[in-house]
Amino acid sequence: MADIAAPRHSAPVVTDADVKRTYGVDSSFGAVAPEDFEVVRARDVDDVVEVMKEAQARRIPVVPQGARTGLNGAAVATQGCIVLNTERLNAIEAIDPVEGIGIAGPGVVTEEFKKAARVERMFYPPDPASAASSTIGGNVATNAGGLCCIKYGVTADYIRGLQVVLPGGEIVTTGRRTATSSAGLDLTGLFLGSEGTLGVITQVVAKLVPAPEDPLTVLATFDSLTAAAEAIVALRRDPQPPCLLEFLDEPSIAAVQALADYGFPQGCAAALLVQSDRPGHVAEDTRRYADIMTAHGATEVALADDAQEADALLAGRRALNVALEARGPNLIEDMCVPIRALPRVVEEGRALCAAHGVEVTMSGHGGDGNLHPSIFFDPADPDSRARGFAAFGDLADLAIALGGTISGEHGIGTIKAPYLRRQVGDAAIARMRQIKAVFDPHGICNPGKTYTA
Ligand SMILES: Cc1cc2nc3c(=O)[nH]c(=O)nc-3n(C[C@H](O)[C@H](O)[C@H](O)COP(=O)(O)OP(=O)(O)OC[C@H]3O[C@@H](n4cnc5c(N)ncnc54)[C@H](O)[C@@H]3O)c2cc1C
Repeated sequence: MADIAAPRHSAPVVTDADVKRTYGVDSSFGAVAPEDFEVVRARDVDDVVEVMKEAQARRIPVVPQGARTGLNGAAVATQGCIVLNTERLNAIEAIDPVEGIGIAGPGVVTEEFKKAARVERMFYPPDPASAASSTIGGNVATNAGGLCCIKYGVTADYIRGLQVVLPGGEIVTTGRRTATSSAGLDLTGLFLGSEGTLGVITQVVAKLVPAPEDPLTVLATFDSLTAAAEAIVALRRDPQPPCLLEFLDEPSIAAVQALADYGFPQGCAAALLVQSDRPGHVAEDTRRYADIMTAHGATEVALADDAQEADALLAGRRALNVALEARGPNLIEDMCVPIRALPRVVEEGRALCAAHGVEVTMSGHGGDGNLHPSIFFDPADPDSRARGFAAFGDLADLAIALGGTISGEHGIGTIKAPYLRRQVGDAAIARMRQIKAVFDPHGICNPGKTYTA
């Protein structure tokens, strides 16, 4: 392997050892930085080109990186690699309400892009719970989902085109800037969810839609998981479905309430948070959602009267990740199953975890069937750790068995890599690797992650 300690590019390198270590890991469970790696914080596309030229010439692995909020290990440094961080490519180049597009550097923080669109009364819908810190580039590379997918879909539904720097330094422009185009193969789609394995994204052209109304929220609690799951199915069948439909089970609610009083009643089996943002119909929609949930056994229903109350009701959901961290070390699953399979996932998932002697909380984007079971165990205890990971694997298998996917939105990275083949099969993995070789013939882009592992 080449000596990365003697870089031949002029892009800025992080020299402080402590700072460098922080760039060695993402937010995945138990991530550890390797001993030997370089961190480049690219200032512009030229820096990226230079690094990708050098990396290919010297066969140095490159780990593209955004804000390191990823939960699957895809942005973790590997021994002898260059971490190529794109946070500083953070210019919002255009918000164009006429074309309905926004053009941004990959390092633009998701929330900042959403705010910029709002100024022009436009809306960039993708809304990962990490929006305040994740980057648009990272969102594209993971095909991030979030809280409002039930109505608006995922990041892939909003990406019109990209600029990408390939290994060797070639710049490729994919997709379209215009409203329509029928010119050639859809290369943009290949980069969505590619987790840094094909090249480095240096510009994102995103579709914007007219801004909706400020949402209102309904909070409903249930005595049984089945009742909550049936209410989700009924809400999905509403002719004007919600823009947000989040699910929390009893242990998730207890964790949130242990953090602060967010107004969730204790002791209920499940809670649903539901929103409408349909212009001119927000109050009417939320009242109807409340009635639907009452008809399906909701024991308590709280309806926000204004945007402030709506935010307050959602605050507990937004605090969930912090609350679960405060409860203890936990490994987050990210399974998406057909909506009707939700009760089975919750019941059977709990039983699988109990069989391994580990606790689990069930919560997530229930309206999409995208749950994030969080498995609690002691990572320092080898036996507890083995049981925790065994439960994690069993939950992945359960998702596949129910016709779902092992990742609804977080991607595969290293943590899920052992299970990908089980879901997609040998033939698909082989084709993914062949496609990678077209863009990255020497395999320097994020090797060892997702389908390359
Ligand atoms: C509290 C919390 C809540 C979260 N909630 C959600 C949620 O609701 N929905 C959801 O989908 N995810 C969620 N996530 C996961 C995470 O925020 C997303 O995966 C996000 O898209 C990662 O963005 P990032 O900028 O941090 O990328 P990183 O973590 O730095 O990288 C993620 C992947 O993108 C690649 N990458 C980054 N930048 C580039 C680039 N310029 N070119 C090529 N590849 C690149 C990396 O190689 C890696 O494979 C959450 C995470 C946390 C910590």
